[in-house]
Amino acid sequence: MSEIIENEEKYIVEQFDDIRILRYHVPAFKSLSLNDKLMVYYLSKAATAGQDILIDQNNIYNLRIKDVIIKILKFYSGDRETENFKKFELFSKKFLFANGMHHHYSMDKFILNVTISYFKTLLEDVGESNKLRELKKILFDADYMQKRVVLGGKGDLITSSANNYYVDINQSEVEEFYKDMEGKHPLNSTLVKEKNKLNEENELSEDSQTKEDNKLIEEVWKVGGKYSKYLEKVVFYLRKALPYAHSEHQKISMQFLLDYYRTGDPSLFDKYSIEWLKDNNSPIDFINGFIEVYGDALGYKGSWESVVEIVDNEACERTNIIAKNALWFEKNSPVADKFKKSEVKGISAKVMQVAMLGGDCFPYTPIGINLPNAEWIRERHGSKSVTLDNITYAYHQASLNSGVLKEFAFDDEEIELCKKYAYQADNLHTDLHECLGHGSGKLLDGVSQDALKSYGSTIEEARADLFALYYLMDPKLVELGLISTLDVGKAEYSSYIRSGLMVQLTRIQKGKDLEESHMRNRQLIAAYVFDKGKKDNVIERIEKNGSTFFKINDFNKLRTLFGDMLAEIQRIKSEGDYKAAKEMVEDYGVKVDYKLHTEVLNRYKKLNQAPYSGFINPVYKLVKEDNTIIDVEIEYPETTFLDSMIK
Ligand code: ZN
Repeated sequence: MSEIIENEEKYIVEQFDDIRILRYHVPAFKSLSLNDKLMVYYLSKAATAGQDILIDQNNIYNLRIKDVIIKILKFYSGDRETENFKKFELFSKKFLFANGMHHHYSMDKFILNVTISYFKTLLEDVGESNKLRELKKILFDADYMQKRVVLGGKGDLITSSANNYYVDINQSEVEEFYKDMEGKHPLNSTLVKEKNKLNEENELSEDSQTKEDNKLIEEVWKVGGKYSKYLEKVVFYLRKALPYAHSEHQKISMQFLLDYYRTGDPSLFDKYSIEWLKDNNSPIDFINGFIEVYGDALGYKGSWESVVEIVDNEACERTNIIAKNALWFEKNSPVADKFKKSEVKGISAKVMQVAMLGGDCFPYTPIGINLPNAEWIRERHGSKSVTLDNITYAYHQASLNSGVLKEFAFDDEEIELCKKYAYQADNLHTDLHECLGHGSGKLLDGVSQDALKSYGSTIEEARADLFALYYLMDPKLVELGLISTLDVGKAEYSSYIRSGLMVQLTRIQKGKDLEESHMRNRQLIAAYVFDKGKKDNVIERIEKNGSTFFKINDFNKLRTLFGDMLAEIQRIKSEGDYKAAKEMVEDYGVKVDYKLHTEVLNRYKKLNQAPYSGFINPVYKLVKEDNTIIDVEIEYPETTFLDSMIK
């Protein structure tokens, strides 16, 4: 970051329920040329134009609920100071933050905590009372559609998930439909039964179905297809941005993306991705598409997302060093040689500042991006890694005085170590995870990308994290000038263990297990090395005044344990060993120690902290003089979260 604003207040907007709303700053924007600023402006419009696609993907009722919420928030004429209305407002904030009825992280459904008759008065006041009948069940029945994505268990993962990628179809039907497409499932379609489609269009009655009507068809997300209304807008703004593209590769990639949205042809998205990989020198970059598959239990369908980013030149020097030495890292990793890549191709690493978040990256956002996801493109053309350092900087600023470190770190030495190095360590971890971790290793011939099924995401995240952890205490990092002391690695080990075994538990409700892949991965790693290091007392569990701490006694041995685990995780991935993946994840990454969890929640409660954070986007405005655009201004709106969402 070239410009540092040392004011915590500027980063924190508000807090509600388990959510904290932050603001990120984009210091790199000011020094851009007018052309580049216009590129950011139009890409940002394209990044926010598809938000409702995601909301619909998350649940079939979501858009109708959103519509009603916005109307009530805008036009309700009754008393807004009552406890009931406050409860409705809180529900609205949670809904708008999560892009729907289910918590963005736990995937559990929200319940509108007022009486049905009170909700009816709200609807009547804004002339929407006819909506009660269709929305009653989803809003008030706790058992109905209770989880957005169900990842494990014995039941049918598709029918028990409340997302909207498959309509009225069960898991075996989906698997049967895609059985010949291993690893090449189209990301951009909803799978429906022919009869449902007919019902939508012609209102055919139930009894007119034939066997034929049960045929599955894909409703493709494209201009002229499903989600056309939103994609037309995305396309409109992408076309506006096109003249400001920086390189030939960027221009061609954008044209492929436009063609993809117009035709829905998945091969055009691959072509877009390949051109996007080749574009390495543009000061503005962006992603926009149906990309991540975490919202689908089977990992077939992509949620819509977009991020617009500006290169942070200073910080890029760090990742250039890592990328240049990628082969050294691959060669020297503790993984068995047959699972290693002999060449590490096309790893590119950039440090960027986020300029706009949209779709599945808004309001909660990743701190790094590694794309494309298609394994065959990664193997042939490499991948592009981006760390988003104005986001991590905002997190860091907001957390400086939160008290979490003081509560969960064992002693002053650990606190000092983390205060001094945690920000640097965190950034480096993200760089290593994204630039090297995800790009390392290879699958053995004939092993499918999907072999680990619902455990695949957790294993993949663990692989990337372990690669980073293993190298964070390698003297090579000092030699390369990336860190001045191995204490940086020690700081990361301390925070990782603390987070994996305790602090991250603050994000889930008492009595629940871990569901989300990144959380499972963190506990999987921390609990596994704690267990394997027991005989040497590598990590010690200590009770002090009724509080539990995990103290690392031997950092070097811990590093060895991370290395051993990396070798095993890579073997599982390379061989597609589903049984071992399942065992390891279920043994270490899913179950939560109820007693410790209760203790952690009590300690955390005293600190009055929200465990999840999300962001308000900045606003870009065209500055005109005599109808000519002379500049683009950036503003950081001084607003509440709700006002920013209903404007
Ligand atoms: Zn990752």
